[in-house]
Amino acid sequence: MKFNDLDLSELIIRSLKDQNYKKPTPIQAEVIPAILNNSDVMAAAQTGTGKTAAFVLPILSKLSNPKNNYKGHQLRALILTPTRELAAQVRENVNTYSKYLSIRSTAVYGGARIHNQKLKLRKGIDVLVATPGRLLDLYNQKSVNFKNIEILVLDEADQMLDMGFIHDIKKIIKLLPERRQNLMFSATFSNPFRSLALEVADKAIEISVTNDNQTGDNIEHCVHPVDKSRKTELLIELVETEKWEQALVFTRTKHGADRLKKQLDKVNIKSLAIHGNKTQNNRMKALDAFKNNRVSILVATDVAARGIDIKNMSQVINFDVPTVAKDYVHRIGRTGRAGEKGKAISLVSADEFRLLQDIEKLLNQKIERVEINGFEPEHAVPLKHKPAKKKFNNKGGYRKRKRSRKG
Ligand code: AMP
Repeated sequence: MKFNDLDLSELIIRSLKDQNYKKPTPIQAEVIPAILNNSDVMAAAQTGTGKTAAFVLPILSKLSNPKNNYKGHQLRALILTPTRELAAQVRENVNTYSKYLSIRSTAVYGGARIHNQKLKLRKGIDVLVATPGRLLDLYNQKSVNFKNIEILVLDEADQMLDMGFIHDIKKIIKLLPERRQNLMFSATFSNPFRSLALEVADKAIEISVTNDNQTGDNIEHCVHPVDKSRKTELLIELVETEKWEQALVFTRTKHGADRLKKQLDKVNIKSLAIHGNKTQNNRMKALDAFKNNRVSILVATDVAARGIDIKNMSQVINFDVPTVAKDYVHRIGRTGRAGEKGKAISLVSADEFRLLQDIEKLLNQKIERVEINGFEPEHAVPLKHKPAKKKFNNKGGYRKRKRSRKG
């Protein structure tokens, strides 16, 4: 299938040529016609599949006859996202694909000055990208009017639910006109997502495209077993010997991200850290420096990195194994994007074996263990869980292990 077969406006197709997109990704091929056909849609798609363009392109096509009679504070399409970074990035996508159209768009999110956002909303907007909390603040201050909304998008809905936005989302939905098109995107069709989707639109078409990222077709997974105390040393060794020009490195905690950045500084590896304690401006600047190759390592926590789009990311490193297996899939969504090859490398210490097992179960594959010379761990990371041997006691039963209780 080609973009020309999709009934998108000519001016949008021209912007896709500028981006050098050859053909629609599988999710785009399914979702775009459904949206142009005015259906409500719920789609399972992760970042990296081209899902943003899957909803942005048809929305722009539908709005491409701009209403000249903008009324103050009104909107035509509202896109809700879980994080500031994702909001800014979706807005960037809207800008890119609407460069030959006269479409007004902006993004509003917390951590940036509300006053400037109010000014932008004053004359009316075609496409508004927003995080739920800031949108409600703006609504309560009468800076935004939902009366003319034609299309609602929930982007990364499962993440919004994980982050506790359910009440804000429900409040917002109650304020919208009943006649509208609803588009809901989520990494998985989890039960909480399904029940929210039912409330938003009970006749939505379900679209789910098997995702290369999850099955790992275009992603090579690899585990380097290593003792916890030597992870930093091993990371430095890999950066130097593999000559990584760019790597996104995940740590579990904000403190861990800062500490790793400092250790990389000491050996002159240019890096920056992004996490929830950094200001919005700080995070944007770090992302920008990384995208423009001014630093080679971006150390991130899961929440800070969720949804960010970094092109041509050839590897993602799990410095710490995520405690929730689903986060592994989100993390590696940043490599192997739109069909390119990618590498997901995990530095795993023996105490993280259980977490690794959960990930392998989710991926339905065993990940190869590759020990690096000089970094062989004292505490091995097994391939399979061996149940502890049960010992008989002299009463003919199993001996219970004593548990020590602390505190
Ligand atoms: P997303 O899943 O929306 O985060 O998009 C992932 C990446 O794929 C982004 O960098 C897009 O610019 C890129 N992309 C989207 N659609 C296409 C396409 N049809 N062909 C090539 N790249 C694309």
